[in-house]
Amino acid sequence: MNKKVLIIEDETDLADIIRDYLKKDNFEVSICNSGSEALNIFDKVQPNIVLLDLMLPGISGLEILRSIRLQSTLPVIIISAKETELDRILGLELGADDYMVKPFSIKELVARVKAQLRRVTTFTNVQIDEKSIFRFCDVEVNRVSRVVKKSEVEIQFTVKEFDILLFMLSHSNQVFSKQQLYEQVWGFEEYGDLNTVVIHIQKIREKLALVNCIVTVRSVGYRYNGDLL
Ligand code: CA
Repeated sequence: MNKKVLIIEDETDLADIIRDYLKKDNFEVSICNSGSEALNIFDKVQPNIVLLDLMLPGISGLEILRSIRLQSTLPVIIISAKETELDRILGLELGADDYMVKPFSIKELVARVKAQLRRVTTFTNVQIDEKSIFRFCDVEVNRVSRVVKKSEVEIQFTVKEFDILLFMLSHSNQVFSKQQLYEQVWGFEEYGDLNTVVIHIQKIREKLALVNCIVTVRSVGYRYNGDLL
């Protein structure tokens, strides 16, 4: 079945161009040109991935992202003309998986869409085995169901937060640079904004309320401290 992309973007020309490129790669594409209709269309379309503009008439993109995250962990790529660091970080903190600043290359956007969906597919196809569940402290991470629980209570993780956590758990006591984590989890090399990794790690620590589960190795990167927990 073709993967469904929902483009939430009020610049109709740009939305149409993105749609045309995605269709060439056999994506099923829906477009929503207004913020106020976005959530209705999201419910109707049930997309596999969302491309989200931030400045929209009606409701802002960040509001839409917040609402999407209350019900889904699907990949969301922000496409925005806002390029201040604040906006970028705010988007990632609210649970966006990637961020592109206009004007951008449509080919690059398509590559990122594919990378996001590839990572989701790869990680959900893992077979159940002895290592399908990781436990440390009061946390349980299920690789197959992609559910994270702390003290038996489920915690919502975005796709990339989960992928990073799972990658770290699968490689305990090894140090990875931000670049390496980006390549492993986002799946491509040349477009990386490494702050994305930093923010995702911060979110994982906050959500688990465990600062030391992933430790910062100064000037090198990050390590999951399997032995200490
Ligand atoms: Ca706009």
